[in-house]
Amino acid sequence: MNMTRLIEARLIAVGDELLNGRTLDANSHEIEQRLVRRGVTVGGVTVVPDRAAAIAAALDATPASCLVVMTGGLGPTPDDLTAEAVAAWAEVPLREEEAIAAILRARCEARGRPYGPNMVKQGMLPSGLAALPNPEGSAPAMVGDLRGRTLVLLPGVPSEMRVLWPLVDAWLDESGRLGPARPVLLRRTTRLSEPVLDRLTAPLLREFPGCTWSWWLTRWGVDAQALAPAGADAMPGGLAARLDEVLGDRVWAREFVDLPAVVLSALRGAGMTVAAAESCTGGLLGAALTDVPGASDAYRGGIVAYADDVKRDLLDVPEALLQDHGAVSGECARAMAAGCRARCRADFALSVTGVAGPGGGSEAKPVGTVWIGLASAAGTFAGRTRFLAHRARNRELAVAVALDALRRHLADGGDPFANAEVDGWS
Ligand code: AMP
Ligand code: MG
Repeated sequence: MNMTRLIEARLIAVGDELLNGRTLDANSHEIEQRLVRRGVTVGGVTVVPDRAAAIAAALDATPASCLVVMTGGLGPTPDDLTAEAVAAWAEVPLREEEAIAAILRARCEARGRPYGPNMVKQGMLPSGLAALPNPEGSAPAMVGDLRGRTLVLLPGVPSEMRVLWPLVDAWLDESGRLGPARPVLLRRTTRLSEPVLDRLTAPLLREFPGCTWSWWLTRWGVDAQALAPAGADAMPGGLAARLDEVLGDRVWAREFVDLPAVVLSALRGAGMTVAAAESCTGGLLGAALTDVPGASDAYRGGIVAYADDVKRDLLDVPEALLQDHGAVSGECARAMAAGCRARCRADFALSVTGVAGPGGGSEAKPVGTVWIGLASAAGTFAGRTRFLAHRARNRELAVAVALDALRRHLADGGDPFANAEVDGWS
């Protein structure tokens, strides 16, 4: 059973560069994912400049007994003042942590640099916090309790935040600060819009009162989540089965994994491979698959064939077929998939050809019309979908629908487009 925690987290990202359009607050995004995986709910994210008053105001706004994860402002330069600001907010002195000072002194010696005030500063911690040495840089992470909150201070450099996170995670575990777990049910879906998901799950809200529900859009479709009623140590009996019943084969995961990883792992399990023939997605399908480490086990490669003559020359789509049906057609999607499967010597090939928008639509093939093809030893299939979003989202959803088609074909060997209606994407 998946669990969530009673504790809530608040994130504070510190840095002038995060507020002048130069640097995107990527740390908060990553930390949210890490916390959610641990079952911790993030109640808010605040981005503040490198100013003590702004840091104090953000800390004041966090609820009592929550977990506050701060990044940035722990470096050597004068604008890095997070540790000082936290100490002032908590009304505790800064103290030198000898173990960190020794590491920093050795770091300076190894680089032939003086151990100056800017280095000394990085070994100074608000009293009450402990240091976790940084394996990659100089600024340590700082963890502990101040003014009723559990504080975690991390350097702003994303790679340093990442290498320190496992140490923070271990500290949270050892110190028992995450609190008791609360059961949670997650269903990740594709081929469903939020309104349709809402309609399908509405009866369950009445059948299982007391659960807290949330729905959100993802790169692949929509996720649905139900939290057990407060105080319950298990999900209400029957809810998981009812949820699976109403969502059917649109569910592709019950935990936080992404669709390409699910598909690759199914391929790996079957000892089979896939290739991709892409037109309107321009390589996004291949990129989504190769984002997953170890994709080479199951992904053979792809052919991005945007122009008709490239579809003909590299994917062996017959000229006459292109003339008769056009590139945005089931015939073309099937031919692209079959050609790609042969050219790439893969067990399966997916193809995508459509009108991503905003231009290029016609009455017969309006913007958002996308044909997905799938070729396998069992046959060559194609299905039409109509996305109602903008270009970027239409392309993103085309990738999701293509991957999902292969996922379902791997499960049952059937025509993944036979009854696979896409419910009015928006
Ligand atoms: P700092 O720890 O504040 O000295 O940050 C060092 C560098 O890390 C900054 O110059 C940014 O390039 C980067 N950085 C800081 N905060 C963030 C953040 N929230 N997201 C992504 N990058 C960040
Ligand atoms: Mg900074």
